[in-house]
Amino acid sequence: MTEATGIVGEFLALKEETDADILAMQCGDFYEFFADDAELVADELDLKVSQKSSHGSKYPMAGVPVDDLTPYVSALVERGYRVAVADQHETADGHAREITRVVTPGTHLATGDESAQHLAAVVRHDGGRGADGDTYGLAVADVTTGRFQVTQLDDADASAVLTELYTFSPAEVLPGPELRNDDDFLAALDERSEAAVSLHATEAFAPGRARHRVREQFGAETLESVGIADDDAAIAAAGAVLSYVEETGVGTLAAVTRLQAYGARDHVSLDATTQRNLELTETMQGDSSGSLFATVDHTVTAAGGRLLKRWLQRPRRERGELVRRQSAVAALTREAMAREAIRETLADGYDLERLAARATSGSADARDLRAIEDTLGLLGEVADAVAETERLADSPLADVFSTVDREGAAALAAELDEALVEDPPGTVTQGGLFRRGYDDDLDALIDEHEAALEWLETLPDREKEKTGITHLSVDRNKTDGYYIQVGKSETDRVPDAYEEIKTLKNSKRYTIPELDERERDVLRLEERRHEMEHDRFEELRERVADHAPLLQDVGRALAEVDTLASLAVHAVENDWTRPELTDDGRLDIEAGRHPVVEQTTDFVPNDLEMRPDERDFLVVTGPNMSGKSTYMRQTALIALLAQTGSFVPARSATVGLVDGIYTRVGALDELAQGRSTFMVEMQELSNILHSATEDSLIILDEVGRGTATFDGISIAWAAVEYISTRIHAKTLFATHYHELTSLGESLPNVQNVHVAADERDGDVTFMRTVREGPTNRSYGVHVADLAGVPEPVVDRSRAVLDRLREDKAIEVRGADSGDEGTTQAVFDLSSGQFSSASADGGAATEDSDTSTTDPATAEVIEELRELDVDEMPPVELMAKVQQWQAELDED
Ligand code: ADP
Repeated sequence: MTEATGIVGEFLALKEETDADILAMQCGDFYEFFADDAELVADELDLKVSQKSSHGSKYPMAGVPVDDLTPYVSALVERGYRVAVADQHETADGHAREITRVVTPGTHLATGDESAQHLAAVVRHDGGRGADGDTYGLAVADVTTGRFQVTQLDDADASAVLTELYTFSPAEVLPGPELRNDDDFLAALDERSEAAVSLHATEAFAPGRARHRVREQFGAETLESVGIADDDAAIAAAGAVLSYVEETGVGTLAAVTRLQAYGARDHVSLDATTQRNLELTETMQGDSSGSLFATVDHTVTAAGGRLLKRWLQRPRRERGELVRRQSAVAALTREAMAREAIRETLADGYDLERLAARATSGSADARDLRAIEDTLGLLGEVADAVAETERLADSPLADVFSTVDREGAAALAAELDEALVEDPPGTVTQGGLFRRGYDDDLDALIDEHEAALEWLETLPDREKEKTGITHLSVDRNKTDGYYIQVGKSETDRVPDAYEEIKTLKNSKRYTIPELDERERDVLRLEERRHEMEHDRFEELRERVADHAPLLQDVGRALAEVDTLASLAVHAVENDWTRPELTDDGRLDIEAGRHPVVEQTTDFVPNDLEMRPDERDFLVVTGPNMSGKSTYMRQTALIALLAQTGSFVPARSATVGLVDGIYTRVGALDELAQGRSTFMVEMQELSNILHSATEDSLIILDEVGRGTATFDGISIAWAAVEYISTRIHAKTLFATHYHELTSLGESLPNVQNVHVAADERDGDVTFMRTVREGPTNRSYGVHVADLAGVPEPVVDRSRAVLDRLREDKAIEVRGADSGDEGTTQAVFDLSSGQFSSASADGGAATEDSDTSTTDPATAEVIEELRELDVDEMPPVELMAKVQQWQAELDED
């Protein structure tokens, strides 16, 4: 292979220096991509590829004009690439090029997306002796707003830290030295998150170095004051994020002004599956419309929208904070006029958190600073509107402004207003930015420049008078500079001093010595003026950047008001109620509704009552499509909304605060994603059984459905027992295994409810009402009938169903036992009767969880257990299932 030299050689050498995926190298007025990069970029962005010859070899080449680079970089980064940019600068002997920044999904400042953009580092430290789990540190930054959050999870496992991570929907993740070699961790990350995984230098995670970096950024005492001085894993993650942002050179580190440490106990656990199942920010189909967020979002600012989304994705556990939000929302629901006036004011504002980051990174232009000025001005208006409305003034809404330096904000706004013209241009290098009176030197220069311009402007009149020529003008263009133009008919009257420079069809162009001289003046003054304005602008922008924390405070205060007002608007428009928040583990919902379904349906409200120990586990039965899922999801969503500080869709509600919401819903969506359904289902169940506590809320929909009936029932059965006797989490459990309803008889805290359906003349009418007790039968066959399944199949299913009921009995382990021995319960499917016997008294042994008697069935189950679903091609699988069916039919 020939070694590339020249420009391509330089490109390839620079590419070696970076671990970015793509390099854009400036060559004069273009940024060029060469070789593989050219092809990749051309492919992704529809650019034209040409060939560059370099010393006998040809290389693909693609380029974009210097001023157009940003949108191309954005598009590449949004597709998950990391893009290095090498700029060209002049040197004594020509020019040189070096990589000035690397734009990555987590450090991309020019994003067009209003949602938060999180860069996260995750670190694992060995838990040490005596600990079951390890210690995890997590640091999450949003460089577009300067937010920086850090936590440490002690004695935890990977799924706990992943759950925590997912609530941020990170754009980019930096795994620490240990985790980057942990295949399971990386696979889980890859499967559940769209984040780009980047490997940052191992040294950056080293405890000493990381600690030093964090101190440098936030001040020496900060670690102590936020209480994480001893949390090495958290500090390692924080240090790594900071050094990564610094290394990418995007210049946003200055916007990261405050370290927020939070505890694992601050937020409700919501894993990625639960966020998806509950359709918090997008539907199962991946649309944002139809999600909970889209339904309840009435915010009028981008920052307000981001905050509302964060509240929904990271609900809180601390009652004080929730009651504070609730009280503010309550006050806003009752002050419609003031609320709407405040929202109108807010709608005029811009995204201060993001503008602050633009100022600190040096990318803000004069219009951005004007936008900052305008938005700072709104703070007073909003705060006054709150102060002037008694109910709002007496509510926690007033406290939103208590930590904001209103005087500082007003002073900065005034400074900007004095400095910048009303409507500044979009570029900062062409002058025209500053008001007169802002700076004496600048004013003097502007005076001089304008005097010179005026001389030029009045020159035609003077010359016309002097020469008597009527068709005479003074103009300027790039090639000729300033010139005097005289119409052809009058060129004979031109004085001798006129020096001809060009002849056109109908006119001639001349110059005179004074004009040359003035032209030089004007150009010199213009250049000085542009330079001076640019310098002054940079100074001004730096002063604004120094105020980043203030801008962030104001931005966050306005965002919070917007979010609270949005919750109030939704509550009023949809007749939601303020839930009572308790610590007693109860859940009492009167006439509850599903917040999203109620928007489009004539919704039938339902009650729900759960009490610790007596009634903390509800088995929900009912025909397909009767509304089981909806009922369970609405319960989870009401709990979740209550813990964001929102009102809830119910007539009244008492919500015992939960520490986590866990769901396992349906199987179809997983199938669509081509994952091994049953394996995924079991992984999720396993995660729930490991993570949930008695303070959690669990929603299980059709657990065990992904496998053959007996396996499925057994797993579902065992899960019910485990949760209801060991974990004691509040649980809603929907099943089509009608048999499971008998658990309600053996387990005291397990109760049955069903979604009623009316059956008359073979027609099923869904009532959508939830009633006590189990359904009296399974309606599956009826639904098949209704759906138009051919009659022979329907008849045959009825026959098979009856047969199953006659033949089979399941024997299960009861669970009310202490140490004295386990009770065995035998559930006879034909009679629907449940009989129990003591473990030591009968034929059943303590270990036999289920026994299915006939050998043919046992054989099928055995084969099923052995079968590796992932390995077998679908057609063979189908054949196998048919074979089993035939075998089962035979006996
Ligand atoms: P299941 O889980 O029992 O199969 P779903 O919860 O999926 O049933 O509900 C089936 C349909 O009934 C959905 O289209 C849903 O919108 C509607 N539905 C469910 N509950 C209600 C209700 N309480 N009021 C009105 N419509 C409902």
